[in-house]
Amino acid sequence: MCETDHGVDRRTLLRGAAAGAVVLGGAAVGLGGALVVGDPAHASGFYNPFTAYPISDGWQAHLDRGSLGGIDYVMSVGTRLPACGGGTIQNIPYNGTGGHTVTIYHPNGYRTQYMHLSAFSLSNGASVGAGGIVGLSGGAAGAPGSGSSTGPHVHWHMINPSGVRINPLTYLASLGGTLPKTSTESDGIPGPIMWKRAQNWLRMEHGYTGPIDGVPGPNTYAALQRAMRGYGYTGPIDGVPGTQTWAAVQRLASHWGYTGPIDGVMGPNSWRGFARFLNQDRYDRIA
Ligand SMILES: [Zn+2]
Repeated sequence: MCETDHGVDRRTLLRGAAAGAVVLGGAAVGLGGALVVGDPAHASGFYNPFTAYPISDGWQAHLDRGSLGGIDYVMSVGTRLPACGGGTIQNIPYNGTGGHTVTIYHPNGYRTQYMHLSAFSLSNGASVGAGGIVGLSGGAAGAPGSGSSTGPHVHWHMINPSGVRINPLTYLASLGGTLPKTSTESDGIPGPIMWKRAQNWLRMEHGYTGPIDGVPGPNTYAALQRAMRGYGYTGPIDGVPGTQTWAAVQRLASHWGYTGPIDGVMGPNSWRGFARFLNQDRYDRIA
């Protein structure tokens, strides 16, 4: 959504606005490291401050339209933007298509940039801890600081010590905790570990923003349906999986050893194939 409008639908915008309100209300509790300290997955001090918001455009969508990469989270203008990790602030007003951009220089040599801000919160050279507010989101078309953005959101990317733009979710995954392999691959019975791995996969690659709790709900299933677009699913993204959704999951499973019918009825062999896919090493790390 930075360079072009990718058609965020009204429901997504409303969800984003609602999520924004929740986070604004809870921000005072979440700040100061409460989200960070005590969570072993975030022992590095880095975390994703935007998990409550829907992703309108992920990393690949940016690359596909010629951007150097980023993640766009939909949120109402004025939402407080917490630092994903501690560091030193540099504000870059009117940074070309990125608009108002805040850079956080992390002590480990990595940098974080948030773009299309409506306001900066800290002055140049100020120190910030993980979770500290560095600015307010913007992105409304034509507003000062929006750059080329066509709708309210924050764009987030990181830059590694070599100066290469990197996917922050991949970076976080490289730091985060790990998930065990699911036994569903052998017993064919879906359980919480299988669903945790599924949620982690969906968070990494298909815009899932909910918790990795092993309890699939409408958000998990909606992300699963988005993922299944790549396997012939053409139904609605409504978070209510039906025969069409499960048939697509069976099609995925057929690339991972499932040889049964594509009938939308998940049995032990369907689950085994799905679990074999989820048990790939690259989904071990929590995103
Ligand atoms: Zn973007």
